[in-house]
Amino acid sequence: MSGPRVLVVEDERGISELISVNLRHYGYQPVCVEDGEQAQRELDGILPDVILLDWMLPGQSGLALARKWRSQTRTKGIPILMLTARGDESDKVAGLDSGADDYLTKPFSIQELLARIRAVLRRRAPEQAGEAVQIGNLHLDTSSHRVLLSGQPLKMGPTEFKLLNFLMQHPERVHTRASLLDRVWGDHVFIEERTVDVHIKRLREALDTASTMVETVRGVGYRFTANPGAA
Ligand code: CA
Repeated sequence: MSGPRVLVVEDERGISELISVNLRHYGYQPVCVEDGEQAQRELDGILPDVILLDWMLPGQSGLALARKWRSQTRTKGIPILMLTARGDESDKVAGLDSGADDYLTKPFSIQELLARIRAVLRRRAPEQAGEAVQIGNLHLDTSSHRVLLSGQPLKMGPTEFKLLNFLMQHPERVHTRASLLDRVWGDHVFIEERTVDVHIKRLREALDTASTMVETVRGVGYRFTANPGAA
């Protein structure tokens, strides 16, 4: 399974290369851009799992970009980690007020950066943080990549696994096809929404007697529930 995709928005080449080499080494997929415009183009294509955002950038500042991305439906769920040379308490507050999830002052160690990335992923997107989840008699473990139903392993494809992982980490909520494409496939631009229906069908087949936990919400999308049939 490929690691979390990290969009690195940093105009200082040296820093961005250092970050990128290390992220790759630790199994992440970094994508480096130098300003807000390039970052926006990336976001319009494939959504990352986390954004590392430098404060001082040519053109729009990191602060303005964080504010913009937080206000837009498509990007508001992506964790943002601000990088900056400033260490002032007031700047820290401004950064967090703009919607950044965390804040890292340069120079920082790679170990600290990795720890902060893991922390924001765990908070915002637990399905990326490599944790296990249990709902009813269904158990999913991302580190071993296994799904157990009452202790018995179930077989499913990688897309069904990712889909189930997302649904189990965000249960009892209705997800539209577009939001599932964004959060599971990482992109809703190049894939048709009915692709979701195909994989939901396969997922239900793989879930065997637990298939009713994946509910269709007519006209809206899908919901994973611990209590199938309860309104
Ligand atoms: Ca900079």
